[in-house]
Amino acid sequence: MFWILLGLGLILLLAGFAVRHWGHRAQAQTGLPVGEVVYSDTGAWQAVEKPLISRRYGLVGKPDYLVRVQAAGGALLVPVEVKSRTQPAVTPAGHLLQLAAYCLLVEETQKARPPYGLLHYADATLQIPYTDALRQAALDAAQAIRQARHAADVHRSHDDPARCRGCGYRHACDEALAE
Ligand code: SF4
Repeated sequence: MFWILLGLGLILLLAGFAVRHWGHRAQAQTGLPVGEVVYSDTGAWQAVEKPLISRRYGLVGKPDYLVRVQAAGGALLVPVEVKSRTQPAVTPAGHLLQLAAYCLLVEETQKARPPYGLLHYADATLQIPYTDALRQAALDAAQAIRQARHAADVHRSHDDPARCRGCGYRHACDEALAE
């Protein structure tokens, strides 16, 4: 249970953490992939019943779907993350890292590295290559989150009042931007 709670926390925190470490400009500098719009038959997507677990990386998470695709080495599973919003002009780093974490979990549980993951927005599906840089970025983010959990204090990492307005910790936070 501990691993599940820790892992779920890590997956959920990846999106928020990414904003601190990768703005759009920095994202380009890291070489994180942009991805391309593709057609994907949603009827072939399989809902994921149980969380995927990687004890090696201390990660647990459940992608929205898995889909079997044909790759050079044979059939492989790739994760699908569904977002209710329309496709943003620039793919948020948090979305990329969350998808990368799911790719990592698929890689660990299937013992086969997915070539890409799918980010499904309301109006488009993006195929995001699971590059070495993206994989490493997800591992770095997970490691930094684990370290932050033991820090005596963690300061605000953004200048976005909207995030503070919707934050469940605002009542106890002395760095909140919104009243
Ligand atoms: S209220 Fe505090 S903890 Fe919440 S998002 Fe703003 S700075 Fe972060």
